[in-house]
Amino acid sequence: MAVIQIDKDLCTGCQECTKVCPTFAIEGEAGEAQTLVEERCVMCGQCVQKCKSYVSLIDHGKEAYAAKRAERLLPETVQEPLFAAHNVSHLAELIAALNDPNKFTVVQSAPAVRVGIAEDFGLPLGSLASGKMAAALRKIGFDRVYDTNFSADLTIMEEGTELVERVTKGGILPMFTSCCPAWVKYMETNHPQLTKHLSTCKSPQQMAGPVFKTYGAKIDKVKADKIYNVSVMPCTCKTYEAARPEMNASGHQDIDVVITTRELGYLIKYKGIDLATLPDEQFDMPLGEYTGAGAIFGVTGGVMEAALRTGYTLITNKELGNKDLDFTAVRGSDGFRTAAIKIGDLTLKVGIVTNLKNIEPIIEQLKAGTLDCHFVEVMTCPEGCITGGGQPKLLSDVDRQDANDKRREAIYQHDKDLPLRKSHESAAIKKIYAEYLEKPCGHKSHELLHTHYKHD
Ligand code: SF4
Ligand code: SF4
Repeated sequence: MAVIQIDKDLCTGCQECTKVCPTFAIEGEAGEAQTLVEERCVMCGQCVQKCKSYVSLIDHGKEAYAAKRAERLLPETVQEPLFAAHNVSHLAELIAALNDPNKFTVVQSAPAVRVGIAEDFGLPLGSLASGKMAAALRKIGFDRVYDTNFSADLTIMEEGTELVERVTKGGILPMFTSCCPAWVKYMETNHPQLTKHLSTCKSPQQMAGPVFKTYGAKIDKVKADKIYNVSVMPCTCKTYEAARPEMNASGHQDIDVVITTRELGYLIKYKGIDLATLPDEQFDMPLGEYTGAGAIFGVTGGVMEAALRTGYTLITNKELGNKDLDFTAVRGSDGFRTAAIKIGDLTLKVGIVTNLKNIEPIIEQLKAGTLDCHFVEVMTCPEGCITGGGQPKLLSDVDRQDANDKRREAIYQHDKDLPLRKSHESAAIKKIYAEYLEKPCGHKSHELLHTHYKHD
């Protein structure tokens, strides 16, 4: 399945993509069209973010631009430059589904989308647009506007429980996070003998999928086969993850289509909606409720911090006070950061890797048995999903860093402003365990929310 492509008609061989690619998946001579080697590509889309070769209405004229836009199956309302390195768009499929009266369309959007989408509508970099985005999604015509932040909280319940079990019962350690599909793909391709270190938890997107088509179907009184699950992601690799054949715990493919933040911008404009002027609306309940812990999944260190907030309670049976919730030791943007966190009698040693370019020395330590960690978070993109391959694109390095800084600040501010900041305190999370899943890492959640990997 082609997810990322380099268009030979447009590529000038500037090799910006080659320099940024963490897996050396792009080959070619300088000044000549580059070739993407699919076996090595983890579909992170960082090449898409850096590509500077394009066709545009202004520079190349209406005819040349329209031909390329049609070839990429993009709506005629798209006016933005089209770049050589790009993700294959599934927007046309989604528009067809929205027009099909037999489909019940359910949308989720990832934590990082709400701090990126407004940039495409002239609002300042890093504007938090949860309410405007919920309003726009409803106006587009989605039957339910649910949220990946809800399933990020669910991920913490499962992953936190799995970690505590591995630590206290002698399971395989260190445990690595599994919510970044590009990282999972990297491990399966390059180090299959080590995939037993990955958490068995699906990513938030893939936890939401079966939950919406089973529990959500009951809430909405709709048959699962009518539900069309749509994901809006900052991530180009999520299309690959959704298409993995084992991602069908609901009895159907759990996620039907994935679009990026950039494509959501195209869709909102296609529908003639001005996101910037929309009054705020809420997500639909209960599967649109979330805490600050779910919100911080969008930044590097966020999954770790969210897991620590709930892990503390799982281990000690006590609650952290509001002033103790900021685990600043795991924040930052260094490629590899470590911290030792005291939780009751246990000192939990954690590590955070951001940007897959930094992973090989850590893998070497893992192989040598010298990686002194219980739990390691890995995100492929430079500063986590706020910098994902599907986020709004900025051509200058200065503007891009400015956007990253402001998106990160907006995510942490959102966490601070939310009334609840620990996943296990969410009423919707308590409800789904009481009514449906029973308990974290129990039989039902293993069936729906956990997975397995390719291994040797
Ligand atoms: S998508 Fe990522 S891994 Fe694939 S070629 Fe582009 S930068 Fe490299
Ligand atoms: S860091 Fe986030 S956006 Fe980047 S590949 Fe991983 S999940 Fe996707």
